[in-house]
Amino acid sequence: MVDSSSGPDNADDPFGRSEVEDLVRDIDLDPFLGRRVDPLAEPLAHPVPVGTGTPPLLALRDLLADPRFPDLFARALRAADPDFRELFPRDATGVLAEFVRAMTWALETTEASRGDTAATDEVVEFARHLGADHRKLELAPRHHQRFGEALAHTLRHLAGRGWDDRLATTLDTTYRVLSTALQQGEAAGHGPARVGATVVEVLRPTRDGGGVRLISDVMIDYHPGQYLSVLTPYSPGVWRRLSPSIPANPAGQIEFHVRDVPGGALSGSLVRGVGAGDRWVLARPLGLLEVDRTEPFRDVLMVAGGTGIAPLRCLLMDMMRHGFNPRVHLFYGARFPGDLYDLPTLVDLAATAPWLTIQPVSEEDTDPWWAGPRQGLPRTLHRRQTGTLVEAVTRWGSWADRQVLVAGSPDMIRATVRGMVAAGTPRENISFDRP
Ligand SMILES: Cc1cc2nc3c(=O)[nH]c(=O)nc-3n(C[C@H](O)[C@H](O)[C@H](O)COP(=O)(O)OP(=O)(O)OC[C@H]3O[C@@H](n4cnc5c(N)ncnc54)[C@H](O)[C@@H]3O)c2cc1C
Repeated sequence: MVDSSSGPDNADDPFGRSEVEDLVRDIDLDPFLGRRVDPLAEPLAHPVPVGTGTPPLLALRDLLADPRFPDLFARALRAADPDFRELFPRDATGVLAEFVRAMTWALETTEASRGDTAATDEVVEFARHLGADHRKLELAPRHHQRFGEALAHTLRHLAGRGWDDRLATTLDTTYRVLSTALQQGEAAGHGPARVGATVVEVLRPTRDGGGVRLISDVMIDYHPGQYLSVLTPYSPGVWRRLSPSIPANPAGQIEFHVRDVPGGALSGSLVRGVGAGDRWVLARPLGLLEVDRTEPFRDVLMVAGGTGIAPLRCLLMDMMRHGFNPRVHLFYGARFPGDLYDLPTLVDLAATAPWLTIQPVSEEDTDPWWAGPRQGLPRTLHRRQTGTLVEAVTRWGSWADRQVLVAGSPDMIRATVRGMVAAGTPRENISFDRP
């Protein structure tokens, strides 16, 4: 007879009690038992030193920068409200890193403003914009309050005895301003915060890229060039931004281009795990990429890296509806020639758009053997150039008279904007959506 109370010494029981105990210890049972336990009750052995001469905004920034912050804050949030378990992905590291980055910028900008309201207005405007995006989360005022309490609790815990009224008041005021602006942004949006959509077709143009076609339950009236936040069944709680590659239409058809970003949480599943019939959630459109059609027209330079072609192609398709357009010079780049998957569509567009010129660019001259057989690239007026996009663009000069639209990976946007400004393009002429 097996004695169920026997311990790990029982060789017949591969799941000895101590292993079960180990497993159970890792499962957070408090919410199921209805207990509210303070996960930060134990003081830290090594709190973050808070210099008395450090301005309070910068002292708060230093507390946020402590490597223990994300884990402690995630625990405090989970204890503060059970909803936060659903609102954040299982691995909240990425979201919290973004929060730290945004808060650091807000605290440093406010500190450096020294009463300059233009600078603090920029912080408030940023929070409003973020709030517009947060609308998809359908937060209640209670969530903002509990989030603020968990934040204060975590920073107080990190500072230990260094926490004082000065820090508490500064955090309270800063959080109040930011959370009010966030809630204003959430309230300002029109239309439904979320719309369901069904995947109807999946395309596989390259080894690591795909196209996903959906029909939304209700038409989403996005402007060409805007992006939508999407929530998919492949990574619960993980929202990512994707840019439609075709203009909005009454049938609710939407197409996204997706690329597998190595190490990313979602994009691998978007390329390989998606199938017809899957249900996605789409949030309201955001983003500032647009062609200024104020007359007299300023000609346009578009610079697209990889899937960055999607919003720019959407703008081009929209321009096709107009009889008269500014001239557009499009640089379309990728690592290998065969990765320029959208070139056939672009060449088709250019065939009936005399105002559009396409310049393909690839970093490597030939495709690697492992990329498999590929069709040759369609003929374009300009031959493909070899190099990075920023090299190819700045080789032609400063483009100072153009409105410049840039879309692509965060590294590509950074390199292109820096390189173009160095080559003489006025920074204010360049538009892109912040990664
Ligand atoms: C305004 C905007 C529009 C976007 N539109 C699209 C789109 O149309 N199609 C699309 O596939 N992606 C698009 N993205 C990127 C997308 O939101 C995701 O970041 C991307 O799919 C990777 O998701 P992930 O969860 O796998 O990795 P994440 O956890 O989001 O990112 C992992 C790392 O990869 C970096 N990264 C993000 N995107 C790229 C990229 N394209 N190339 C190289 N590194 C990258 C991130 O900065 C991060 O360091 C857009 C992003 C923004 C800000």
